[in-house]
Amino acid sequence: MVNKKNIEMIQQQLDGQTIIAATKYVEADDIKTLVELGVRDIGENRVSAFLAKYELLHDLDIVWHFIGQLQSKKVKKVIDKIDVLHSLDRLSLADEIEKRRKLPLKCLLEVNISSEVSKSGLKPEEVLPFYEKIATYDKIQIVGLMGMARLTDDEALIRNEFMTLVRLRDELRNLDANISWLSMGMSNDYQIAIDCGATHLRLGSILFQEEDHGTVF
Ligand SMILES: *Cc1c(COP(=O)(O)O)cnc(C)c1O
Repeated sequence: MVNKKNIEMIQQQLDGQTIIAATKYVEADDIKTLVELGVRDIGENRVSAFLAKYELLHDLDIVWHFIGQLQSKKVKKVIDKIDVLHSLDRLSLADEIEKRRKLPLKCLLEVNISSEVSKSGLKPEEVLPFYEKIATYDKIQIVGLMGMARLTDDEALIRNEFMTLVRLRDELRNLDANISWLSMGMSNDYQIAIDCGATHLRLGSILFQEEDHGTVF
């Protein structure tokens, strides 16, 4: 269920950022409600779920973001349906996109800013060399960086990880002025992300939490 109150609350906190709804928790009907509420940027992280929802909703005015890991062998299933890919993190994936996409695809390089082994993404020190390798690819238009801070209550740590992404983005922007997006901040840390300069927030649970009707005695 879409939590309209939370969406309105977050919309009031925005300072130019775009909300991307991470819709893995919900079905197509809830996405329709989001669009009616002005949230038109939709992010899916699994190919099968994306295809099912796209099939039902592709007539709506939606910007489709793919925010999860994408296996190279599944690229052909989604490549001409998505508008933005947030998880470009290896050369084999870039090669597959270059081979299959018709028009240039907006891509963000995913960076493992929390240095957790369980997380995907390039290591910070790999970002620049990777960018240099794919900078000439015609079908890949690098627009920014994506990252996920670790799940912790330690605000300073989260801030520090987001600032790693900011610095890397600034370095790349010196080479290519089109590299401006910072896709960072989720339900538990989006306010810190706004503070650090995020341009795109990927929000899931907070948009769909049950509305709080207060305590009933
Ligand atoms: C689910 C998901 C989010 C949103 O997470 P919440 O904590 O529910 O806001 C953001 N990014 C990615 C890649 C996700 O898979």
